[in-house]
Amino acid sequence: MTPPLDSTWRSARSAPRPAPVLAVDIGGTKMAAAVAAADGRLTGRTQVETPSAGDAAQLWATLTSLLDRVLAAAGVRTGELAAVGCGCGGPMEWPAGRVSPLNIPGWRDFPLADSLKERFGTLVRVHNDAMCMAVGEHWHGAGRGHQNMLGIVVSTGVGGGLILEGRLINGASGNAGHIGHVVVDPDNGPPCVCGGRGCLEAIARGPGLAAWAQSQGWRPDDRESTARQLAADAAGGDAVAVAALRRAGRALGVAIASAASLCDLEVVTVGGGLSQAGALLFGPLRAAFDTHARLAFTRKTKVVPAALGQDAGLVGAAALVIAGERYWARG
Ligand SMILES: [Zn+2]
Repeated sequence: MTPPLDSTWRSARSAPRPAPVLAVDIGGTKMAAAVAAADGRLTGRTQVETPSAGDAAQLWATLTSLLDRVLAAAGVRTGELAAVGCGCGGPMEWPAGRVSPLNIPGWRDFPLADSLKERFGTLVRVHNDAMCMAVGEHWHGAGRGHQNMLGIVVSTGVGGGLILEGRLINGASGNAGHIGHVVVDPDNGPPCVCGGRGCLEAIARGPGLAAWAQSQGWRPDDRESTARQLAADAAGGDAVAVAALRRAGRALGVAIASAASLCDLEVVTVGGGLSQAGALLFGPLRAAFDTHARLAFTRKTKVVPAALGQDAGLVGAAALVIAGERYWARG
């Protein structure tokens, strides 16, 4: 069997054909996978909807059928895989890879890493999906070349991952960098799913923002009020949608100013559906950041849109096993 790329990938790069890895990204709405080469390039990217009412076995069957299709499309046999890297919604028991994703009720304490290991007979690493997105942006996206970075993703929730001195920071339980539950408005902010009040996530997550906009008279065309639609309406000049993005931008700017002070960051990347809104989000974000980041070292922190879009999670999942010396705990 091919040894894990971790210790060998540098030398493997000079080999004629380094073994590929399987990259997997599992969230509450979709499961995506691709085969990744040693340089992180993805082939055969495929995604399916996550069965919303599936039990553990149905979810596993959906996942393995997706993975089989991806491998077939890329012309890779199971025995040729060097490793599997996987991002999954949290919470999870890390680094064991037992997952209980909030948005996937059918999996509670599901042994995802062990199941993948049994199926593919190779090295498997599972990490929080937001950590993987941050790693993807650091390895090959908007954070590339920086040593100190926070990667934020704003979607159904608000997650993040922290890279300091060139290495992913895990923390005691694998949750470091979870900026979504940094408190930005303890007195007047909305209640948060975590049980607290005024967290960044409570204000800026897509459903929270859409609910706020609707309370102010915004009417989505669709049955679903997505952050993307809010961004599109704001771009079209809808005053409430513009105000909603200002609200999210301000909350992000305040939280990022605190993070910059705590962690001495060079760059913060912001991804997810809402980041498509461009200046309508980043304008208020930078204004709030400038108001609150007053120290010389925090004023140097750059806040930029994420660059990899939907691929960030897969690229980061691949990096867990291809560049584990930077993106996985020292064993
Ligand atoms: Zn919270």
